[in-house]
Amino acid sequence: MARIIAVTNQKGGVGKTTTCVNLAASLSAMKRRVLLIDLDPQGNATTGSGLHKDELQTSVFDVLVGTHSVKDVMVFSEAAGYTVLPANGDLTGAEVALLDLPSKETRLRAGLYEVESEFDYVLLDCPPSLNMLTVNALAAAQGVLIPVQCEYYALEGLSALLQTIETITTALNPSLAIEGILRTMYDPRPSLTHDVSTQLVEHFGEKVFDTVIPRNIRLAEAPSYGLPVLHYEKQSRGAVAYLALAGEFIRKRAAA
Ligand code: ADP
Ligand code: MG
Repeated sequence: MARIIAVTNQKGGVGKTTTCVNLAASLSAMKRRVLLIDLDPQGNATTGSGLHKDELQTSVFDVLVGTHSVKDVMVFSEAAGYTVLPANGDLTGAEVALLDLPSKETRLRAGLYEVESEFDYVLLDCPPSLNMLTVNALAAAQGVLIPVQCEYYALEGLSALLQTIETITTALNPSLAIEGILRTMYDPRPSLTHDVSTQLVEHFGEKVFDTVIPRNIRLAEAPSYGLPVLHYEKQSRGAVAYLALAGEFIRKRAAA
């Protein structure tokens, strides 16, 4: 059965999409079957996985409104090495479209049943807000991976996110748990980075992943080639870090 992980933080630009794309590529390099679901209307995970969002016939939007199944819409990306349920600007209309539909919070979860046995991991790339798309992700997931950029305001939105997770756990999804806090764009030089990192560890303890993702230019360049960094420059520090994260992920699951 697939382990379903929502990668979320309502702050934009903290590394959610970068983590989804590169963790997906690293897990699949380790022979795990991965489905990456793009839940952001910007479609960055879609293009970053080598798919052209303007050429999609169908997208995750069609799954949410129930006109197509996950199997109808998902595509295997040769360039990335994993399967993608893509998104584009159509998803902007999802919030409104879902309003009139029954079980609007759990439509993604319902759609995923048919593919759960085909994948080892399903990664959900959430938009930068706590909207109905994020609620669908949290209702479908077993684990929440929270990327945090170690900078001054990093901790500010976290309590709202934790509150939302708690609400969803109570109301919709009792099996939801925090998978881990991931420190991203880590620059070991500024002492502030260090302070935030220390605070995270104090607060979340072993929920903080040992693996730290460094700031690395290759990670920022790779999406413009439609490639995970592993297939763009596999020696880069970014590629090595996301391989280490995938290893930590697999070990944690085996130990659970
Ligand atoms: P989010 O999905 O949370 O909005 P992204 O993953 O899109 O964040 O990252 C925001 C920007 O920062 C992107 O331009 C991305 O390429 C860049 N980026 C993300 N992680 C790193 C990193 N570790 N090193 C350098 N640039 C990064
Ligand atoms: Mg994103």
